[in-house]
Amino acid sequence: MSDFDQIQFNTRAFSELRAVLRTKRIPNALLFYGRANTRRKEAAFFFAKGINCHGQESEPCNQCRSCKKIDERLHPDIHYIGLPEGKKNITISQIRQMGQTISIKANEAKVRVVMIDDADLMNQQAQNGLLKLLEEPPDRTVFLLFAQKKNRLLPTILSRCRKIRFRPLTEKMVADYLTRFHDVDPGLAHIVSVTTNADLKKALLFLDKESVPGSADSVDWIKRRQWILTGLSRLTRPDTADIRTGLEISQKLNMTPGLIDDTLAVMKTFFRDLLVFGVSPEKIVNLDFYDTFADINCQVEYETYFKWLSELFETEKRLISNANIRLTLDRFFLILTCNKGNSMP
Ligand SMILES: [Zn+2]
Repeated sequence: MSDFDQIQFNTRAFSELRAVLRTKRIPNALLFYGRANTRRKEAAFFFAKGINCHGQESEPCNQCRSCKKIDERLHPDIHYIGLPEGKKNITISQIRQMGQTISIKANEAKVRVVMIDDADLMNQQAQNGLLKLLEEPPDRTVFLLFAQKKNRLLPTILSRCRKIRFRPLTEKMVADYLTRFHDVDPGLAHIVSVTTNADLKKALLFLDKESVPGSADSVDWIKRRQWILTGLSRLTRPDTADIRTGLEISQKLNMTPGLIDDTLAVMKTFFRDLLVFGVSPEKIVNLDFYDTFADINCQVEYETYFKWLSELFETEKRLISNANIRLTLDRFFLILTCNKGNSMP
């Protein structure tokens, strides 16, 4: 995504950053806060390029050696700390290690940049360690902190940061973006933006528009969505629901535990659509399944949809608390297929 594209989102945050770049008065620390899908990390790289660009303008030229190295994530003076895999906190040892790295002179940057992702997940010790660095900042170094909940940070850290708020993207913004810049059909763009809860990164992944370095197995999301929705259609229609199909689907889903969150996201749109269909059919998300919803609507009582949706949330809750995937899904699909007794005459 180019800098220009990103500026379409979060106009205010970007204009603040550009103002800082123009004045060339760079604070020691900035805090980018807001929900996860606001592309604040990309904004941080935009800023890092801006303060280190060799060009004449205040904004990154994207052509010079410095800009290119930052874009390719090869710049030796742009540092990044994130949550270690499988861990829930950023620890003091990560901060100490960073402190050591930046205690020596920068290699080539005009201003060295230290990014701390999920800064609100630093434990107490780590926060105290960072505070020390902020109190006596190394020469020509700027700290960029990203946080979803800024109040988890020590007030003494907060007071040392220039705070920039990143607003969450809306479903409409994401859908418009996909249509405008990636030629995605508006109907599909809407489906993906709703399913991903306006998470642009995920939407691009689902549509195979952005690859993730290091992930070998890309899944054909469009096909998979079709398969899940077709399965749910069968299981929710009293004339086609059967327990065996439910258990087969459960078994298949169980084979790809890494995809379970995305599967649940698709399932939620299905049950939400069932509810919406009864009131304003034209507003459903999965318009390509319109006839299916119409069909189910004739066969199942409206109250049942609430029951299903609440069971789906219960299923999600169980899966989050690490319940056995197969058993949890079996239970859910059994509940769906047992609805025959509640169907309309
Ligand atoms: Zn440049």
